[in-house]
This record gives sequence, structure tokens and C-alpha cells, in this order.
Amino acid sequence: NHPIRLVQVSKVYDTKFVETHALTNLNLEIAKGDFVSISGPSGCGKSTLLSILGLLDQPTSGQYFIDGTDVSSLSFDQSATIRNEKIGFVFQSFNLIDELTVFDNVALPLRYSSKSRTEQEIAALVNASLETVDMQHRKDHFPNQLSGGQQQRVAIARGIVHQPSILLVDEPTGNLDSKSGEAVMQLLQDLNAKGATICMVTHDPHFAEVAKVRLKLQDGAISKPAEMECVA
Ligand code: ADP
Ligand code: ADP
Repeated sequence: NHPIRLVQVSKVYDTKFVETHALTNLNLEIAKGDFVSISGPSGCGKSTLLSILGLLDQPTSGQYFIDGTDVSSLSFDQSATIRNEKIGFVFQSFNLIDELTVFDNVALPLRYSSKSRTEQEIAALVNASLETVDMQHRKDHFPNQLSGGQQQRVAIARGIVHQPSILLVDEPTGNLDSKSGEAVMQLLQDLNAKGATICMVTHDPHFAEVAKVRLKLQDGAISKPAEMECVA
């Protein structure tokens, strides 16, 4: 019941004159239903870790298992297939497509999926997801007709619509006023209470507190107390 497992994962960026060790021998297990926060100073490797977890980048060494499958050295196409099935993303800047309605934005992961679904099945999943974030009444609106907090709720609906193994969340409150930020955080907690597995990167210690498992990254490694809490 550990959908996410990193074993001795390292990431080295090899640029012209320097090697940057962004992650060093990182071990991480995320259990089904966990809510994990990852915090730490700028440059400690948070973005790199999230990119690897999201199959947007590959580790230099080590292994990454999703639902028991080693995904650390898949081809580009294989990664994309697994990413579309198993990963949900929520970004700081929402990343909604301005030309698409709320409904069609939320439907995107289903349309990219290799699982074939009828339009009725897609509509049922999108509507359920919009209901979960309480944005059903805005499904025919366009993103620029919504407040920042509403856009982030739509982005969360898109992140969960295909029922991913893990929802990866990057600074979800970074572009929100504090009231909308609190509401988004509450929504993530509610989703987690209903069973969603969440891994969230945040600079904000107040929001990191919300997570059940709090990891601190320091120079590309998980600092000791958090690691003991995490790796059971
Ligand atoms: P954070 O998200 O915690 O700020 P990052 O994962 O972005 O940290 O970066 C970790 C380290 O790796 C930093 O030293 C950063 O400069 C370096 N780094 C990140 N991405 C790249 C890249 N594409 N090329 C070279 N170095 C990178
Ligand atoms: P944040 O910490 O706000 O998430 P970062 O500054 O870590 O953002 O990184 C933003 C993007 O820039 C990431 O995609 C990262 O891979 C890239 N990046 C970070 N540092 C470097 C670097 N030294 N060289 C090249 N790309 C980098």
C-alpha cells in the first residue's frame, strides 16, 4: 500500500562547468491516503523532487516505483502514459487553458488518458469532480471569468478527475490571498480525508503543518527527524 516509493534517488544536473547535486540518495515512501508536505529553503531540491515524482524528469540514479512498477528509466512515451494515468498535478499558477471552458479544462486528463471513455462517462467524472470542489455552477465559464481561488479549485478538480495514484501539488497558495489560500488548503485536507494521496511542496510553514507527514529537504536530502517519521 505504498503507491510511491523512491529508493536511493539522486539527481545531478550536469551543466557546462559544474555538476549540481540537486538530490542525494533520497529514500521516500508515500502510503495510500498520506498527505505529505515537502518544505525547505530555495534550491534544496523541491522542484527537482516534484519533477521526478511527476515523471517530468528522471533520476540520475536510484529507483522510482509507482504502484510497484519501476518507472525510473522509461521511454518518453511510456512515461507520458503512466503520467496521464497515475499522476495529478496542481500548480502555483493554476495552468488552466484560457480558451477552454471549466468543464473542458477538467476533462483534459481524461481526454489524454489511454483509457477509452465515452462522452457520458467523461461528463459524469468531470461533473463529480467539479462538485467535489464546489465549482459545478461555473462549468461553462472560462478561466479568466473566475477569481484566483476559483481557478485553483478548478485546477484541483482537473488534478483529481482521473483518480490518480498521487496528486502532486506545487505551492498551491502562492498566487492567492490568504483567505482563498486557506480555503484551498481546507479543500486539499477534505480530499485527503476522502482518501486522496497528496504530496505538496510549499515554502509556507503554516501550510506545511496541514500535512500528516512533514518532510524538510536540506541540500537535496531529507533531514533526519522527518525521514524517521516517514519511512516506516
Ligand atoms: P527548489 O525547488 O527547492 O528551489 P530546485 O529543485 O529547483 O530547488 O533546485 C535544486 C538545485 O538544482 C539548485 O541548486 C538548482 O540551482 C539546481 N537546478 C535545478 N534545476 C536545474 C537545471 N535544469 N539545470 C541545472 N541546475 C538545476
Ligand atoms: P521554485 O523554487 O519557485 O519552484 P525554482 O527556482 O526552483 O522554482 O525553479 C524553476 C524552474 O527553473 C525549474 O523548472 C527548475 O528546474 C529550473 N531551474 C532552477 N534552477 C536552475 C538552474 N540553475 N539552471 C537551470 N534551470 C534551473
